[in-house]
Amino acid sequence: MSLVDQLDTVTDASAGTVDRHATTQTFSSTNPASDAVVGVFPVHDADAVQETVERARPAAEQWAALGFDGRRERLAAYRGYLARRMNELAELVHRENGKPHGDAILEITLAIDHLAWAGAHARKTLGQRRVRAGMLAANHAAYLEYQPLGVVGVIGPWNYPVFTPMGSIAYALAAGNAVVFKPSEYTPAVGAWLAAAWRAAVPDAADAFQVVTGFGETGAALCRARVGKLAFTGSAPTGKKVMAACAETLTPVLMELGGKDAMIVDDDADVVAAADAAVWGSMSNAGQTCIGIERVYATSAVYDRFVAEVTAQLRTLRPGSDDEATYGPMTMASQGGIVRRHVEDATGAGGRVVRGDADPSLFPNENYLAPTVLLDVPESSSAIREETFGPTLTITKVRDAEEALALTNATSYGLAGSVFAKSKARGMDLARRMRSGMTSVNSVLTFASIPALPFGGVGDSGFGRIHGEDGLKEFTRAKAITRQRVALPVNLMSFGRPASATDALARVMGMIHGRHR
Ligand code: NAD
Repeated sequence: MSLVDQLDTVTDASAGTVDRHATTQTFSSTNPASDAVVGVFPVHDADAVQETVERARPAAEQWAALGFDGRRERLAAYRGYLARRMNELAELVHRENGKPHGDAILEITLAIDHLAWAGAHARKTLGQRRVRAGMLAANHAAYLEYQPLGVVGVIGPWNYPVFTPMGSIAYALAAGNAVVFKPSEYTPAVGAWLAAAWRAAVPDAADAFQVVTGFGETGAALCRARVGKLAFTGSAPTGKKVMAACAETLTPVLMELGGKDAMIVDDDADVVAAADAAVWGSMSNAGQTCIGIERVYATSAVYDRFVAEVTAQLRTLRPGSDDEATYGPMTMASQGGIVRRHVEDATGAGGRVVRGDADPSLFPNENYLAPTVLLDVPESSSAIREETFGPTLTITKVRDAEEALALTNATSYGLAGSVFAKSKARGMDLARRMRSGMTSVNSVLTFASIPALPFGGVGDSGFGRIHGEDGLKEFTRAKAITRQRVALPVNLMSFGRPASATDALARVMGMIHGRHR
């Protein structure tokens, strides 16, 4: 029986979730394309969450005791399982989140690649190594290693229900932690599927990855369950609530929050490639991408050509849920209201609108939004200042790339961004000065597909990093050990040291460091 078939009833839907706890309340997730019920899930209360975390604690110890090789082997079995069932999972993502099957495949592929990288690089990044002891402790050996935190809580969003949480789950597991995952209430079936797949692929460490389902209260209970760290991905307002709840138990947090990412198109840019990237970066997944491009600043030298090219490309887009659709519905119906408000606000302030050829009267329901480009919107409007999270894009004409950079950086967010410039030096310089955690030059979103690169934001986009070596270290604590190799005749850290020893030390330090002015 496929894991999707197992998600048909409450009991089966909790495969991989807390199925041993009596939970009376349930909720259902629905297909945003048809409103059909995808699955019914338990609302796990604080007791159920605590019970899950307590079950994860011994599992974390056993998982850590497997060592890097044992974990790498099991993480490989998990990714093999995901790869073999990719179409089944993609179909579930399509049904529950609404994105096209092909986009779901892309998302799962990225998650599998990260699982592979995290498993393969954990030992080199985290394993014990010797560091130089230095002059003052030359008779000692010094060791550094990164130890797991125990149980890591992961709270995820719905927009990339596989890739986004896996950025924390894969790296936390590879670092030797157990994980309790609370998926979004909009995509619990995908979360339960991921945990059920883990139990099937890694039966001897089944409790190392568990899922609890429910709304914000379930997430808040996870924050209060005394986990070793809470990795949160979602909006900035919810992130603040998560931090406040975690503060009660001094639980450290990782914050992957929203964005208002911009693309800079410089004088010498390949305008056709930039337009293609801007349209994909803003409209794919119906614009519901934390690192999606929401604003473009194009220099006056390329602005007209860029707008013409984007307009032409917009005509090819068609929202829908069939195999030919370029993007799907808004997963969360309420988000449509925010997108419409931003568009109205922009046009009310004098912005011009360019829409594609998609005919809204043919859209299956009101969760589908037409691709919308807003031209020359005032910088004070909500379409420029707030996260829109829909299939919209603002394009603003600027004098030059310096003005583009200043406007790009004039936001409280700072997640990612893109620069299009032919000159390598210019592109790299703009990328480095962009106030964001990640920037792609002459492409969009590429950094997310390179497992060795860290992923995370600055400012209201959060702090901490998933992916890469930084992402592995994020789920560990550094452990320092020294071992005395030989005893010296004089021990400076003893009440028995002679006074002459510190005099000699002062003379030596004066000779070595005193010459620096
Ligand atoms: P959200 O903040 O509404 O919810 C995220 C998760 O938090 C959900 O699982 C939700 O149930 C839970 N939650 C809600 N209230 C809570 C509380 N009080 N305590 C604990 N948990 C609580 O976000 P969303 O709508 O699911 O996702 C969209 C947002 O996520 C956007 O802002 C997007 O930019 C952001 N996002 C960021 C990244 C990143 O890596 N930086 C990736 C994907 C999405």
